[in-house]
Formats: sequence, C-alpha cells, structure tokens
Amino acid sequence: MKKTGKVYLVGAGPGDPGLITVRGVECIQRADVILYDYLSNPTLLGYARPDAEIIYAGKQARDHTLTQDEINAILVERGRAGKIVTRLKGGDPFVFGRGGEEAEELQRAGIPFEVVPGVTSAIAAPAYAGIPVTHRGAAAAFMVITGHEDPTKDEAQVDWEVVAKFSGTRVILMSVERIRAIADELMKHGAAAHTPVAMVRWGTTGGQQTITGTLGTIGALAVDFKPPALTIIGDVVRQRETLNWFEKRPLFGQRIAVTRSREQASGLVQRLGELGADVLEIPTISIKPPKKIGPIREAAKSIGVYDWLVFTSPNGVDAFFREFFEIHGDLRDLGGLRIAVIGAATAERIQELHLQVDLQPADFTTEALLEEFRKSVSCENLKFLLPRADLADERLARGLEALGGIVDNLDAYQTVPEKEDRTGHRTRLLSEGADFVTFTSSSTVTNFCELVDVNTLRKQFPKMRFASIGPMTTQTAVARGVEIAAEANVHTIDGLVDTILELVGQTR
Ligand code: SAH
Repeated sequence: MKKTGKVYLVGAGPGDPGLITVRGVECIQRADVILYDYLSNPTLLGYARPDAEIIYAGKQARDHTLTQDEINAILVERGRAGKIVTRLKGGDPFVFGRGGEEAEELQRAGIPFEVVPGVTSAIAAPAYAGIPVTHRGAAAAFMVITGHEDPTKDEAQVDWEVVAKFSGTRVILMSVERIRAIADELMKHGAAAHTPVAMVRWGTTGGQQTITGTLGTIGALAVDFKPPALTIIGDVVRQRETLNWFEKRPLFGQRIAVTRSREQASGLVQRLGELGADVLEIPTISIKPPKKIGPIREAAKSIGVYDWLVFTSPNGVDAFFREFFEIHGDLRDLGGLRIAVIGAATAERIQELHLQVDLQPADFTTEALLEEFRKSVSCENLKFLLPRADLADERLARGLEALGGIVDNLDAYQTVPEKEDRTGHRTRLLSEGADFVTFTSSSTVTNFCELVDVNTLRKQFPKMRFASIGPMTTQTAVARGVEIAAEANVHTIDGLVDTILELVGQTR
C-alpha cells in the first residue's frame, strides 16, 4: 500500500524564533518537505533534517516568488507522493495567511492535513513594542483588520466606520502603504485626531523598529516606514512609555554574527539573543566522523592501557565517548583513568557524563595545560590519549612527550567548511553587514576566512568589529589579517559576551 503523506500548516510565529510552538518545531523536524514564506524566520530551518527539501515560497509585496496556485499545487503534489510536508507561515496560518485557502485545496484533493496555530504578529509585535492589546481602563477589546484594501473604494470588505467607532484597540496588518488614507478615513468617521498610534516593523526580531504618533500625525511620520509592519490604534499605545522592555535591552539594535559549527550547541547565540542582539548564526564548520574510524575504536577498546585522557574540545569528548559507549556500554570500564581538559565547555561536557575533571588549567591554552602537568603530575612513562580534530596542532603532544609521557594522538573527528546557508544568515551578513563578528575558536576563524572574503567584507562595512574568545583565536585571526577589536578577558562564552557589552556600552 502506498504511504499517504500529510501536510502541516504551521504558524512560525511573528519572527522571534523562540515564539514558535513546540508542535511547530516537531513538524519542522519531521518534514520531508518544507515550504516557508517571507515572514517565517528562516532561522527555524535549523530544526530541519539535513536531507529535507526546502522551498522558499516568497510573498514579499511585489515579489511573488511562487503564486498561490503554485504553492497549492506543490502542497498537493508532495502530499500525494507520500511526503510529510510542513508549510511554515509567518504568525498564525489563519490570520491573513491564506492558510484557509490552502486547507480547502488539500481537503478537495483528499490529502490529510493538520493546522498548528502560531503566535500572530497582531498580538506579539505590539507586546514587543511594550503595548498590551487590552489593558484595564484603556481597552476592553481588540480587533485585527487588514489595511490592504483601498479604504476609498466601494467594494472594500472592511467597514471603516465601524473601525472608527470601535472603542477598543485596532490592530491593522498590511497597513504601511495606506496608513495616511486609513487615518484620514477613520477621522472622517469621527475618530479623534489625537488618538495614539504606533507602527511596528519587523516586530519581535532584532531588527524591530517602532514609531509613535497620533491619527493626525502618523501619515507624515510614516512616509519612510517600510513593510512589513503593523499599526496599533488606541489608548493602549500610551503603555509603551512604561512597558517598552524589548527595545531597551542592552544589545538591542546590534547585529552580531556568531561563527560556529552547526553541531556545536552554542550558548552564545542564546545569550546574545536574550540581551537583545540581532544574531546571525553563521555555521562555518561541520563536524564529521574521522577519515578512519579504526584507530578511535581501537583506542576505545584498549582504554585500559592509558593513564590520562586529554580533551581540548567538546567535539573531542562527543566523538570519543560515542565510540567508547558503542564498545563498552558501562562508564566504569574507564577504570582509574584520569581526565584533563582545556576549556570550560570541554569540562562541562565531561561533567555531563558525571565524570570529574582531574586537571584543568585556569587559562584555556595548550601552554597552561602543559604547565599544569609539569607542576602537579610526574608524567614519566605515563600513557596519554589525545582525541582531537584531525588537523589539530601538535604542540600538546610534543609538550607531553617532552615531559616524558607516551602520547597517542587520535583523529577523533574532522572539521570541514560548511557550504550550505539554509537560514540565509550568511547572505544577510554579506549584504547587510554586522556590528560584530565573534570567533570562539581558531577553527571558526580559519573556516570563516575560507567561506567569506573578509577583506571585501571589511571594506564594505568598515564599522564591523571582530571579537575573539582568547589569545589562541586572536593569534589565528591576526595571522589571517583579521584585526581583532576585542578579546575576552575571561576566555569563556560569558567572558566574550561581557566584552561585547562593555564595548557597546562605551560607544553608546
Ligand atoms: N499570518 C500573519 C499575518 C500575515 S499578513 C500573522 O498572523 O502575523 C502579513 C502582515 O502581517 C504584514 O504586512 C504585517 O502587517 C504583519 N506582520 C507579520 N509579521 C510581522 C512582524 N514581525 N512585525 C510587524 N508586522 C508583521
């Protein structure tokens, strides 16, 4: 029997990737095919399976990449072919998203579908601008209307007289281009010229912009305001004076590129995002199994012969223990082995396995670790296992040998440059620039430079600054001709964030 497909009409939320629902994320993770539109944040594609087919459906005013008929046809065709299709739409699929039409089409074609509601921009963009759509004493109701129709035309479906007389909050989507005509129409029907108005563009994203005025002034204030934006009309707009939380965060308005490997879960992206930055996640490296898996299996099997395991990265920990557990299935098979690490993130990964770190230098450098061994361990004739990247430098191995140790260098994983740009963040960096580009390891520098022509980028965006997590990373950057504006005092993610906060504070 043929597998039947299914189409999920999923609300992607208003822009902030954290505002998608748990169910929505599940649908992205499972999808064979993802169709997304202009207003659904492409960052969410990071949840997609690597082999998923990704289709951009477009729908920027004037730039219809696919027509609605074409979109419907793709949904039906892929569904019929037995695929799991996730149709991602900005905000909620049924709030001016034409989700209803797509559902009807699927119903007609006999393709099973589900609707996953989303957080609509109609509520979320005001909220992120510090405007509650209802508020005691200010508004006991709100309405959501389209501003797309010409208010002066007779066939308009929106009754502007009703809108003008409505005593609650009015949220008008698709209203940028006609805002003057809309405001005039409302005043014509008796709305007071001093009624407060706000317009929010790219709400809930790091690029959010807000303007405020009144029905009488907004037309003139909004001449240069560009879509996508919505308009909020009513007394609740005054709450923004006290409730404007989002745009007041310390890194709001800063675009920061984070260079990292795709697999490496990065606390940095989350921290910067929470501080209000517009974060561009630029995967530069992809972690792959080593060219030869034999040696790492062999080492994991004969783990008993070693005295020390030395890790220099979280990836090394992951790669080694994946093979270790394939063979042993019991952590106690590590025996009396001791563990040394460089770096807080590496230590954390070890601790996640409920193992103690025996040796960890305060400074996250090869030299500091060697110094620590020299001071506190008699290395003579001890056996060291060093699972690390295939291209890692040899200084650690040579240093341990100089202390009398017997060292097995192990290619535990390889790093390859990331070519894909699913989320479109690399394209955005190249076309819009950034305030900061962060480097959290030497390999991110190297791979970033392979991926992007840094010199051209710097010429194009002279204000762009590069920040490094520590001396090794800085060294690699400088050797590549990348000038580092700031190096973290404490060589951790938190240290790097603090350094950026300081720099931004100084320039503000
Ligand atoms: N289904 C969507 C609305 C689609 S209509 C939802 O529920 O949000 C497109 C309009 O939505 C845009 O013209 C704009 O008015 C509004 N919009 C969508 N995302 C927005 C955002 N992040 N900030 C401001 N307005 C937004």
